[in-house]
Amino acid sequence: MSASFAVFESAGGAKIFRLPLQVFPNFWAYAYVVQYAGETYLIDAGSGTDASYDDLLNGLKQAHLSPSDLTHILLTHAHIDHYGGLSKLKPLTNAKIGCHELDVQTVTHHDAHLALMSDRIASFLTSAGLASETHGPLVSIYRFTKSLYQSVPVDFTYESRNMQVGPFKMIHLPGHCAGHVAMRVDDIVFCGDMVVDGVTPHLYPETIGAYNGLDHYLDSLEKLRVWAKDARLVLNGHNEVITNLPEKIDATHKNILRRMSKAVEALAEPITIAEVCEAVYGTTEGYNLLLTVEKTGAYVEYLHKHGMIEIVNADEVEQGSPARYRRLREIADVDLLPKQEISMVE
Ligand SMILES: [Zn+2]
Ligand SMILES: [Zn+2]
Repeated sequence: MSASFAVFESAGGAKIFRLPLQVFPNFWAYAYVVQYAGETYLIDAGSGTDASYDDLLNGLKQAHLSPSDLTHILLTHAHIDHYGGLSKLKPLTNAKIGCHELDVQTVTHHDAHLALMSDRIASFLTSAGLASETHGPLVSIYRFTKSLYQSVPVDFTYESRNMQVGPFKMIHLPGHCAGHVAMRVDDIVFCGDMVVDGVTPHLYPETIGAYNGLDHYLDSLEKLRVWAKDARLVLNGHNEVITNLPEKIDATHKNILRRMSKAVEALAEPITIAEVCEAVYGTTEGYNLLLTVEKTGAYVEYLHKHGMIEIVNADEVEQGSPARYRRLREIADVDLLPKQEISMVE
């Protein structure tokens, strides 16, 4: 699927350019330029591959801008398809770079972050019961971003600006990424990967990284629903503009619920996370296996934390074997996810 350049304008006169970036082969993301009161903001910076970087420069050109015109670069979240482009962009601009404080380490100490994450992913794969000969290749798939990005210093965090930068109001929405934010200018919301048309955003368990996982994500979806309820346009990190956010949030809920029901069905027998993954997603391999087993890990962690499944082999787990989980009872779909607590958020 391709993506296109587009221009928008907010109710208060902010001019917005949407730049399509091929961040990985056949995988597109958007960066945005926002011009307001003489300042020029870039929201996200692509992946840092040559194609993504060329697309970014071309997009700026199409908006009659060059990197040196940027005054600020603001990240929605520190995933490589959104911040990877910073290292190539940085020498060409004096723009001040901002992100949420929970994402600072990823951006500023990339090698240490990768080392820590590789270690946590390897131990997650072991505890998930995935055959040990698959670990090495999966962890190295994860580490391929090492070549794309060199650490870049951050000039400010959103917290240090009271979650307000120029015309943007920010809200912290952890779950898909620890430091994920949405930003709002007038009637337009930039929501990063929180809600993406036709896709359920990737999740991994909190055991791999704090402020990730399904609990945080569900919570953030409801916060976004309330915070963005009168927004005219929701511009996201991938795919089409959203004009009906509540419906898209409901669709995301439904997709998660469908996967969780499948997991719960399979958990009638005691099985490992890897086996739940196969029951929900079928046989996957390579990068897809890594993604699906991480997502399954997030679901199983949620079911376990919320008392819907139990570990049946505690003695073996103590000896280092993968946990096998089994559901405690029949669970109706309606009981799988929390009831929406909109009124408490407002
Ligand atoms: Zn992301
Ligand atoms: Zn993304």
